[in-house]
Amino acid sequence: MRYGIIGDVHGNLEALTAVLDMLKQEGVGRHVCLGDVVGYGADPVGCIIRIRELDTICVAGNHDYAAIGQTPVDYFNSYARHAVMWTKEQLGQEERDFLAEMPLMRKLDGFTIVHASPEAPAEWNYLYHTLEAARSFQVLNTQVCFIGHSHIPVVFVSNGSCRTRPPGDLTVSGSERYLVNTGSVGQPRDGDPRASCCIFDTASGLVQVKRVDYDISAAQGKIISAGLPPVLALRLARGE
Ligand code: ZN
Repeated sequence: MRYGIIGDVHGNLEALTAVLDMLKQEGVGRHVCLGDVVGYGADPVGCIIRIRELDTICVAGNHDYAAIGQTPVDYFNSYARHAVMWTKEQLGQEERDFLAEMPLMRKLDGFTIVHASPEAPAEWNYLYHTLEAARSFQVLNTQVCFIGHSHIPVVFVSNGSCRTRPPGDLTVSGSERYLVNTGSVGQPRDGDPRASCCIFDTASGLVQVKRVDYDISAAQGKIISAGLPPVLALRLARGE
């Protein structure tokens, strides 16, 4: 099966549409979402609709739960908090139920999906360094795990010791285990403003990282029109 793996969509319908078009051309069989469908962007409901109509297998992100009061927002910066409050007002009962029912972690076809870290998914810890990733490998019982949250695509590899490798196509092999951050669809932060996602072919073991151009100025215009903090629009063009 070829899985299209997306995450950190953040209400950016332009980015999500471009990514889903690419995944369709690539002929993926199933869509998987690593959480943060909403928050920051101006189309939370539109993104939920697209994700639901594809019967996407989802786990929750901190912004998804925050938008329905299911996780605290004390540690959110002021822009994120503003966006959470705004997002909350846009959601109807159906969207709230959809977000509330998302689990924190799932095991699928031989791989795990979680938004933040596998060892404590409800604590929303970031995996930036190999020390943190090493703790996650201790609790993982699949060879591959896909994560989001930092919006920075990276691969942690464990084979006794833990190291990082730059994002890029890789083939799952031997006794190595992998934690793959797919980057963000709707708010990339690695300096590359293109939407980021992965395709995972479970038959061949190939993980491909995909970057997709989208209409950034349209997404920015909607953020400004909605009265959301302008910095949330500006950062899209800079990929930060
Ligand atoms: Zn996020």
